[in-house]
Amino acid sequence: MSKVSMIPEQMTTVTTLPLDVQPQTATKPCRFCGAELRRTFVDLGMSPLCETYPAAADLKRGEIYYPLHVYVCEQCWLVQLEEYESAENIFSDYAYFSSYSDSWLKHSERYCQQMTARFGLNSESAVVEVASNDGYLLQYFVQRGVRVLGIEPAANVAKAAVEKGVPTLVEFFGAKLARKLADDGRCADLVLGNNVLAQVPDLNDFVEGLRIVLKPEGVLTLEFPHLLKLIELNEFDTIYHEHFSYFSLLSTLRIMEAHGLRVFDVEELTSHGGSLRVYSCRKESGTHNIESRVAQLVAAEEKAGLASTAGYTAFADQVKQTKWALVDFLLAAARQSKQVAGYGAPGKSATLLHYCGIGKDMVSYTVDRSPYKQGRFLPGTHIPIYHPDHIRETKPDYVVILPWNLKDEIIEQLNFVREWGGKFVIPIPKLTIY
Ligand SMILES: [Zn+2]
Repeated sequence: MSKVSMIPEQMTTVTTLPLDVQPQTATKPCRFCGAELRRTFVDLGMSPLCETYPAAADLKRGEIYYPLHVYVCEQCWLVQLEEYESAENIFSDYAYFSSYSDSWLKHSERYCQQMTARFGLNSESAVVEVASNDGYLLQYFVQRGVRVLGIEPAANVAKAAVEKGVPTLVEFFGAKLARKLADDGRCADLVLGNNVLAQVPDLNDFVEGLRIVLKPEGVLTLEFPHLLKLIELNEFDTIYHEHFSYFSLLSTLRIMEAHGLRVFDVEELTSHGGSLRVYSCRKESGTHNIESRVAQLVAAEEKAGLASTAGYTAFADQVKQTKWALVDFLLAAARQSKQVAGYGAPGKSATLLHYCGIGKDMVSYTVDRSPYKQGRFLPGTHIPIYHPDHIRETKPDYVVILPWNLKDEIIEQLNFVREWGGKFVIPIPKLTIY
């Protein structure tokens, strides 16, 4: 008997799958409603964590890449990314201090003025801010004599708040902490969360906590990037691992409703490429009438197809076209031996560069005003980050503006680039050369 004939029959049979069978990725259920996630919104490939800037000594170590595959839930229309790296690991020692941005400070001071006037806050009132960062906002309530409490998981950032005179708990917020605060009589007249909702992995526990910590007639305001704007303005690079969810007003209404909250007003803001400020109160509160702006924005989102699959299908192709245009341009520049530099090292540049497959061969360096980032490298691509003066010294032919949302301000600052015939490249919403 030959050896070959001893191989069991099933091992010699090659099974082929039918041609229409695609490899499937196992997904977790919807973060809010638990339905199975089957519909891809956009698949941006693999990317490292975007707020980790390696130093020279780290460059020979490996970096972990995670999938940037975004799904839309066909039950509740929540657009979402799986949580691959725990929120504890991302946010416990965060490099982002809100007070470094002048425009954000102004935005926050204005918010305090508006809320104080509209809801009659005074020294008897209590304000709780979730993800209060370095006290950038609560400091303005402190100045008005309003009692405040910040909740912030990053100890290094919270320390800066305490030094400003803003009492801050170093904790992750959720229902458990909210119950503890309620038991201690620390419910608030105003509860706020700015740019935190997208970063919460356990969305239901978080929103439940917001209701618990709210006084019966209290007001909750939440600010987050608006999905409608993300789609309309092609802001695909604002998708990164630190942002788990992307909200429309439609999905927000369902989430609030499920946790005993009623949305009574909404404002469209220009911050972060287009954000919403959503005002809610407890369902049983009799104080706040629903403003017409809520129904108007719901109608606009329905018109854009966000209440059906229609509004979500074209985005992936739009993103692909943007990539091709940018890569075409950079390849042509490389062939003509043009020097291309970047400006800025924002978190979102990691998504843009990885998705488009752009490395040092196409963008030789970038610059950033933050001393923390200078001398370090962009994650994954290892494009070096210099002081902004490097542009004047090296006279590049093109400067790609990575924080495109600040393009007007940056072009004005860098106008000297024109002296040697340099031009500006804006990649998003579509490739534009200035
Ligand atoms: Zn869902």
